[in-house]
Amino acid sequence: MMPQTISSGFQKLALTLALPLALAASPSPARAQVKGEVKAELWDGERAMAVVGDLLRFTPRSMETPGHQQTIDFIKAELAKAKIDAVTQQRWVFRTSDGKPFAMTNVIARLQPSNPRRVIVATHYDSIIKAYRDAKNPDAPMPGANNSSSGVAVLLETARVLSLLPPGPVGIDFVFFDGEEGSKSLGAGDPEFAPIGSPYFAEHLREFYPAGKPEKAAVFDMVCDRDLHLRPDPSSIASAPAEVKKFWDIGRATAPHAFEARPLPYAMSDDHSALADAGIPAFLVIDFEYEPFYNTTQDTLDKCSPKSLEAVGRTLLQYLYLP
Ligand SMILES: [Zn+2]
Repeated sequence: MMPQTISSGFQKLALTLALPLALAASPSPARAQVKGEVKAELWDGERAMAVVGDLLRFTPRSMETPGHQQTIDFIKAELAKAKIDAVTQQRWVFRTSDGKPFAMTNVIARLQPSNPRRVIVATHYDSIIKAYRDAKNPDAPMPGANNSSSGVAVLLETARVLSLLPPGPVGIDFVFFDGEEGSKSLGAGDPEFAPIGSPYFAEHLREFYPAGKPEKAAVFDMVCDRDLHLRPDPSSIASAPAEVKKFWDIGRATAPHAFEARPLPYAMSDDHSALADAGIPAFLVIDFEYEPFYNTTQDTLDKCSPKSLEAVGRTLLQYLYLP
């Protein structure tokens, strides 16, 4: 992911959007609106941490590496444990501008596949192969505990818990995107960065949604930082203002230390961008302030915390049960 260049026009947008969100933030927790009993405490941060640790064994998990396929196999095995059997692999070949082919795979797992109401919960499972921002070892593999094994862990633990709870009002599509780190992730730090998996999925929406678009999409990236601080970014507010408000209201009630309604001063480009461009209200949950570890050899398990993962996972769980 990458922050978009801040232009004066953009700053105006952020300011315009910030005010209604801040004013609309109510002191009464949105949790009270959740129908039925959502046992959020079932969402276990220690289990999610173990998933992050498991994924790090496959580093690097970037396109065309052995760890890439091992990660796909791991995700499928974990989904099978949660008894989610409607799992599809969307496969295609991506070619870089110089013609080099990459075998790509998005993994899609569907809950309540016959429910016409669909909500996307997504992350990316690939990692940047090189720790290009590492001062000492810029050619070393980038572990990617936070970027973004944490996102995969949030989705898999949410899937596990949902398999134990009564069905919610919407059918959920967990989407594990390939190639978020872009076509040049083997060189890393590409100034022309653009995700690959999410635009492909957005261009082929009808394969999964023949009767109409999904209602909304929540995307997770970099969500296990021990010092977690989550603010909505202006592109998310522009695409899905009501969903951002719902999610952050629940977050502030569930983990007030981790959620702040005040928007980020910059917009983010990530897997939510292609979904938003396709007309799906889409928002990103990210803590991009991760220095000095971001895309270095130091993006490791010890920088994460179970409590941070729980803050995000328990918020997501309650959000998915809103009408
Ligand atoms: Zn990422």
